Amino acid sequence: MVNTTIKTTKSQEIFAAAQNLMPGGVSSPVRAFKSVGGQPIVFDRVKDAYIWDVDGNQYIDYVGTWGPAICGHAHPEVIAALHEALEKGTSFGAPSLLENVLAEMVIDAVPSIEMVRFVNSGTEACMAVLRLMRAFTNREKIIKFEGCYHGHADMFLVKAGSGVATLGLPDSPGVPKAATQSTLTAPYNDLEAVKALFEENRDEIAGVILEPVVGNAGFITPDAGFLEGLREITHEHGALLVFDEVMTGFRIAYGGAQEKFGVTPDLTTLGKVIGGGLPVGAYGGRRDIMSMIAPAGPVYQAGTLSGNPLAMTAGIKTLELLQRPGSYEYLDQITQKLADGLLQIATETGHPACGGQISAMFGLFFTSGPVHNYEDAKKSDMAKFGRFHRGMLERSVYLAPSQFEAGFTSLAHTEADIEQTLAVAREVLSSL
Ligand code: PMP
Repeated sequence: MVNTTIKTTKSQEIFAAAQNLMPGGVSSPVRAFKSVGGQPIVFDRVKDAYIWDVDGNQYIDYVGTWGPAICGHAHPEVIAALHEALEKGTSFGAPSLLENVLAEMVIDAVPSIEMVRFVNSGTEACMAVLRLMRAFTNREKIIKFEGCYHGHADMFLVKAGSGVATLGLPDSPGVPKAATQSTLTAPYNDLEAVKALFEENRDEIAGVILEPVVGNAGFITPDAGFLEGLREITHEHGALLVFDEVMTGFRIAYGGAQEKFGVTPDLTTLGKVIGGGLPVGAYGGRRDIMSMIAPAGPVYQAGTLSGNPLAMTAGIKTLELLQRPGSYEYLDQITQKLADGLLQIATETGHPACGGQISAMFGLFFTSGPVHNYEDAKKSDMAKFGRFHRGMLERSVYLAPSQFEAGFTSLAHTEADIEQTLAVAREVLSSL
């Protein structure tokens, strides 16, 4: 029997105080545990596959600071590189060799990227790429998919997943109608719907943006032919195809979903892993399109801290660690063991469930499925997920506090961590 009586006194005190200081007590909504209920834990430190809360409890972590921690938290080589970089200062606001190094690594890895621009978050990358899509095609409309999240910019807050889905606010107050009237939406995995939108809006659609594997409506994979179909349709209509690989980039393969599925978009957004835990985003793609970005071209986009030397350093070291032989084989092996195990245990304990994984990204829905899109994902038993989440947390396993988020593993997770997680899951699922 695993300990289920963790003390969280300090977490409760700190979070209570935080609620007076910051909206909802947090710096980003999903951290408040609204969709799973109960108190969030307040973190003190992270290392390898583990987190410790302020009361001293240790957890196996499957959130990995929402994706960046793919080598494990506070990897000694990343920390050492950061110490060295720190001695040279925290920000330059000027060109540095570090930017060239990371840019070359990204260009070498990601098939669609011939030139790249660094920014500070995935949101910024997606905002910028949208402006670029519109400028390059001289068209305004875009297609996004229901349940896909591309950051919190106005134009994308239409049927967005992630924290927006969790809070039931697909359209946020404060977003002007004009900002979203050019954002068309289609169900994920529905090529016919995309074709119909292109027919109805001839020569008006700048492009299609999507998560090539969805992580923000839970974990949803593209059906066979879906990505290829989008590539064909966009070509046919002179529109651009954009993969938002903020989550999947360097996670489901070194070269992201485009390497994994062999479909090359025109533009790509990145974030999370390429910053190694520091704030970084990036967008890149075909040279002729990227050459439109200022100061090479007329499309304006800028950033005081963009290309920050500490962030570049953490990104470079993280990608170097991932390049070591066997990284992705290991990630796939342990994550498959976890995802298969969870599904099997759910079934054996009488809970209809479906789920899966690709490399270090996984998901589990409490519905028999299959889940092809956001509508299917919403059939998952949310109340049950909430009880499952709490049960796991009380037994020292930290899962993303929302059904609409994917789970993440890292190189630091051991076979023993996975086995312990599965043992805990069996105990929790048997009790639900
Ligand atoms: N795109 C995708 C696919 C994401 O998963 C996220 C964040 N979860 C974003 C964009 C936004 O990135 P950020 O939170 O760094 O702004």
